[in-house]
Amino acid sequence: MCEVLIIGAGPAGCVAAAHLVSAGHHVHIVERQVFPRFSIGESLLAQSIALLDEAGLLEAVQAAGFQYKDGAAFVRRKHYSDFNFAQKTSTGPGFTYQVPRAQFDQILAEQVRKMGADIDFATEIVAADFGQEPKLRARRADGGEFELRPQFVLDASGFGRVLPRLLKLEVPSSLPPRAALFTHVEDGIVSGAFDRQKIRISVHPQDHQIWYWLIPFSDGRASIGVVGPVKRVRDWPGDAEARLAALIAEEPSLHTLLSKARSAAPVGQSVAYSAAVSRLHGPGYALLGNAAEFLDPVFSSGVTIALKSAQLAASVLDRQLRGADVDWAREFDEPLMLGVETFRSFVNGWYDGSLQDVIFYTRQDPKLRRMICSVLAGYAWDQGNPYVGAHSGRRLRTLAEICRNG
Ligand code: FAD
Repeated sequence: MCEVLIIGAGPAGCVAAAHLVSAGHHVHIVERQVFPRFSIGESLLAQSIALLDEAGLLEAVQAAGFQYKDGAAFVRRKHYSDFNFAQKTSTGPGFTYQVPRAQFDQILAEQVRKMGADIDFATEIVAADFGQEPKLRARRADGGEFELRPQFVLDASGFGRVLPRLLKLEVPSSLPPRAALFTHVEDGIVSGAFDRQKIRISVHPQDHQIWYWLIPFSDGRASIGVVGPVKRVRDWPGDAEARLAALIAEEPSLHTLLSKARSAAPVGQSVAYSAAVSRLHGPGYALLGNAAEFLDPVFSSGVTIALKSAQLAASVLDRQLRGADVDWAREFDEPLMLGVETFRSFVNGWYDGSLQDVIFYTRQDPKLRRMICSVLAGYAWDQGNPYVGAHSGRRLRTLAEICRNG
């Protein structure tokens, strides 16, 4: 009998597995797909470097030669503002990577397998019962089913949202539905035309609700995408390729940068991606990463939140399996939500325009700018930063007022 069943071998599942096998527990991961497989979510934050390191996974990631990332650059019409992750108030790494997720996730999965986790690929969880003790049904690609009776289940199934669906834990997100179109290109950008060590986020010149990402990889390819209201991104005339091309044509500086780009993948679409749950844990299970809550891609917080949730859950579960009294609400939900709420304030501030006014303000106090930079670098759990936690939204709005008034 396995001690811990993990649903999904994405970043949350692998980091949780790494911690738990290192602590001596038997971990079984069930993954629906066969790796390598495409996944969106390619720009990491500096905080994720510390989390990968603690899990014993950083060395393998660093050996892969991913694109080094030292910050984020924002563009709105003629205005340019960049944040270097090293110029922050929080302690911790000031750099990270931009990673094609097919390769990144495969490296993590291979590594946790080497560390001792069992992984069944092409196998999906199709039923779950947490009556007396956890009892789940898994289905292989050939249709064959088998039962699993672990002591505890960590749901790291991402947008698969296995336990939220099966246990009816899904609730509407606090964020309105938005849509994204994305693809990979051979970017053809001439050397020096922009800083490949930063994600480039540009705002639509007429509509600040629409924004674009350009995430360069180390092999001359880049991930590009656009996010905006569903009506404007999904319901516009034309197929996904045509809509993405039309929206990029509306952002002149990005259009110019990508003038020599060649398609390297089909265009994908994600609609109403924000997701939430009524509870983060229950008897015999806890929800990690996107299986719990997903906010928005704008600050690349998804993988970092996934890794943080995995680190917190693995620590509580390790102690629980050793017989200690643990308090999941206090030791998992509360600390995890501190960072999620911080990012929620930043996401809300981005779309209501206040954070954009802060980001593009040219005469910002250097200390305040470093505090904002800390959150942009993923240090959303650093309680020494006034822009972290419950008051971050109010403080951001006040700061925006100051910036608007010069
Ligand atoms: P995932 O990475 O989704 O892994 C879940 C795994 O579970 C998958 O491999 C899946 O096959 C498996 N699974 C699903 N169902 C089952 C089942 N029934 N049985 C077994 N296995 C199952 N985040 C960033 O950090 N940076 C970005 O730049 C970024 N850009 C984004 C852009 C868009 C448009 C969107 C929508 C999201 C973006 N994200 C980004 C978010 C990021 O994609 C996720 O937050 C991140 O991948 C979550 O990791 P995870 O481990 O929770 O889930």
